[in-house]
Amino acid sequence: MRYNKLAILYDELSSTTKRLEKIDILSKFFEHVKEEDADLIYLILGDIYPEYDERRIGISNQLAIKAISKSTGTDSKKVMAEWKKIGDIGEVARELTKKKKQMTLASHIITVDKVLTNLRKLPELIGAGTIEKKLSLITELLTSSDPIEAKYLVRTLIGDLRIGVQESTIKYALLKAFFNNNKDYEDRIQRAIDRSNDLSVVFKIAMKKKITELDKIKLEVGKPIKAMLAQKANDIDDAFKKLGKPIAIEYKYDGFRLLIHKANNKVTLFTRRLENVTKQFPEVEGYINKFIKGDSFILDSEAVGYDKKTKHYTDFQKISQRIRRKHKIEELQKKLPVEINVFDVLYYNGKSQLDVPFKKRRELIEKIVTSHPYKLIASHHKITSDKKEVEKFYKKALKDKQEGIMLKNLDAEYKPGRRVGHMLKLKPEENELDLVITGGEWGTGKRSGWISSFILSCKKGNEYLQIGKVGTGVAEKETEDNKITFENLTEMLRPLITKEKNKDIEVKPKIIVTVHYQDIQRSPNYKSGWALRFPRITALREDKPLSEIATLEEIEKDFKESKHENYRYG
Ligand code: AMP
Repeated sequence: MRYNKLAILYDELSSTTKRLEKIDILSKFFEHVKEEDADLIYLILGDIYPEYDERRIGISNQLAIKAISKSTGTDSKKVMAEWKKIGDIGEVARELTKKKKQMTLASHIITVDKVLTNLRKLPELIGAGTIEKKLSLITELLTSSDPIEAKYLVRTLIGDLRIGVQESTIKYALLKAFFNNNKDYEDRIQRAIDRSNDLSVVFKIAMKKKITELDKIKLEVGKPIKAMLAQKANDIDDAFKKLGKPIAIEYKYDGFRLLIHKANNKVTLFTRRLENVTKQFPEVEGYINKFIKGDSFILDSEAVGYDKKTKHYTDFQKISQRIRRKHKIEELQKKLPVEINVFDVLYYNGKSQLDVPFKKRRELIEKIVTSHPYKLIASHHKITSDKKEVEKFYKKALKDKQEGIMLKNLDAEYKPGRRVGHMLKLKPEENELDLVITGGEWGTGKRSGWISSFILSCKKGNEYLQIGKVGTGVAEKETEDNKITFENLTEMLRPLITKEKNKDIEVKPKIIVTVHYQDIQRSPNYKSGWALRFPRITALREDKPLSEIATLEEIEKDFKESKHENYRYG
């Protein structure tokens, strides 16, 4: 397929903000895609591989500017100036390509396949001459591009496609294109997506228009799968109302999610962001081999840190460095030990457990896990119908320095990647949100050279909506316990800048932070319609994916509910 067709699709998708229209546009497009072009579905999400694949395009704005300069024969200073003026580097590429095309006659055709081939070479390049090679691969594409192709190619390169399509848009478009919009099939397509975690695989099978073929997609051990997510319970009564009786209660450990895969004697560990962190946790690999029976499995767990001397649990922020750190691992492992709390099983010895009721899955966990406190244990777990028991358990969890408790329906299945109403969390109200940084401001004086205030956004559908600005609370100097400094945040955000005007910048939504605040109020100043009062960044959530930040809907719901009495212990 010509890349031009895809570029036109992008343009059409950008022209509407309405979800149903987007689904309609996509489904019409899907009807004409051939099997060999199925991987273009990654490009529609701005990627070159499935989400779990860690190979990314990773082109900086600077390199994109150089490539535009080369392909259009424009001085890079001029490209830069245009970018500052127009604010969208893709648009700059389009304009400059338009001007060039008026002068040159010869134009080559680029195909989707060629684009994917060149883009897929980018993450493979390492060592000397990498930049030059990258430049030549992208310039080759840009030189053959027409204006609209250039626009979207550049946006793809810098990871800022902005066409408002997400996985669910694709799901509905597949349903419409290949299954007559039969709503009975929606869940079956979703299951196929959950199990394969690869949209191209699902796309190819969906094209055959046989839903039973999609049902055959199986989990694969070693391939990351999305974690099931929880909803909130207002209080214990609310939990009983939503879950029935009896329920399972567990500690809500304040650590990070770890999905554990084992097959063919190989252990692989993934975060909820689908990142492979096996290398960072060599001791965990040992625990899995020693303390868990079975040849092949996928387990769900929370890794939680504890103080070596006092054996008290510590909070997430303390151990978060372990996720990132790729060197001197042993040293960090000694300093910041973790305990693995296994709380679910998704697959065991050749069989998927996703459809097995939670009660049975828990029984399996108890059979296969030999608990070794401070190394690996089956999570603290209790089955009860008694409110008093739950209260006692909740208090104990808080005393043990955990966040609260999880309350789970015993009959429920495991739904990867979904925020389900059958797994609830209950924790003291803390005025805390996970948000994404979408912009900021360069500092002056003592803070010049650093980004000194950060714009925080929540999510509504495909959009990121500003909800506050934070500058105070970020440290000037890094300490053992606090890595949230202006310098560190600036280094993280610098490569993500997409727009810059005077001191203001916009960045790609990527850096997720936990924010505590004093209060929330309605505000016309921010697009979300809300403003956080006195926000402070309290943790960097490198383990969380963008799909898990707070949504406007949740924030509004919380606001309404917080007018009622909150459930407090402590
Ligand atoms: P939140 O991140 O606030 O949405 O809370 C849900 C998270 O709590 C899950 O994604 C897990 O990482 C974590 N968690 C801690 N303990 C448990 C548990 N026993 N069962 C399920 N999730 C848990």
